[in-house]
Amino acid sequence: MEYISAGDIEKYSYCPLSWWLSRKERHKESAGVKKHREISEKAREYQKSATEKKKFENVVLYYSFAATVIALVGISFIYSSPVLSRVFIVVSLLWLLVAIYILWRYEKYALIWNRKIMERMMVVFSLVATVFSIFAVTFFLPPAYMLGYALEIASLIWLIVATYFLNLTLRNELKYNEIKKELQLPDGEIVYVDDLEKSPILKSEKYGIWGRPDLLIKTKSGYVPVEIKTGRIPKGPLFSHIMQLTAYMLLVEENYETPPYGILKYGPVIYKIDYDEDLKKILLSKIKEMRVAIMTGEVHRNHHRPGKCAHCSRRDICPERLS
Ligand code: SF4
Repeated sequence: MEYISAGDIEKYSYCPLSWWLSRKERHKESAGVKKHREISEKAREYQKSATEKKKFENVVLYYSFAATVIALVGISFIYSSPVLSRVFIVVSLLWLLVAIYILWRYEKYALIWNRKIMERMMVVFSLVATVFSIFAVTFFLPPAYMLGYALEIASLIWLIVATYFLNLTLRNELKYNEIKKELQLPDGEIVYVDDLEKSPILKSEKYGIWGRPDLLIKTKSGYVPVEIKTGRIPKGPLFSHIMQLTAYMLLVEENYETPPYGILKYGPVIYKIDYDEDLKKILLSKIKEMRVAIMTGEVHRNHHRPGKCAHCSRRDICPERLS
């Protein structure tokens, strides 16, 4: 079975003859393709700044936490207090008990909560219990001023490092928000960017189609494919573009899960196209027609609209053009 691309479905839906004539064309890099490259680059930058933002946020958290602990240990070396030592023993034991309780009920709660969250909670509770037990010991010991001051200086250095990473986080946040505003994308993680060379092709063996959406975003409501159109902005989403987007939605359904909707983006204008059975049926009937055309070689214009021919990129070689 010959695989049909989502791009071919778009051409066929515009005019079957346009698709048929395009089969003889050699691929050439148009202005639209160049524009797509720029958008893909932007999307990759967006993806990178989102990842780095998250990474630096964690680094800031770890460094600030470490700086606080080091500073407190330093203080506990400077001041000696048996009362505080006892308080920390009790608090440390409490945190340890919670960690043990989580471990004991792990299987039960892991069904309700996420396993990763449970594991993180266990680590945090054990870590805090350990830190408090260190305080219990150091507050009990006689003062060690030199060590205490050295730890305060170390804490300051860690705090400076944390501030440096905070600066990087804020810069990435700014960049992330700027690109997000420019691309006007829904909230979520970009899991796929079509850069025309490196991105894997999405295929459906069941329907015999393939394609590469411009973007695939994992939103709260599911995976959302995005098709970005360059050039003139139409008054509404074009049927051929809706068919192409539906092909991507079908591919997402086959490769990931059923998408709630897809996005058609014409410059700053965005259309949400709901994915439903009716749309899927229309797409499948188009694919069926295309297979018949491939077998018979009989393909003709299916409209009487001169305006369509006027905008058609194959009008110069078309024997059935209307204008
Ligand atoms: S010129 Fe008109 S009939 Fe010919 S392929 Fe284009 S849209 Fe179809």
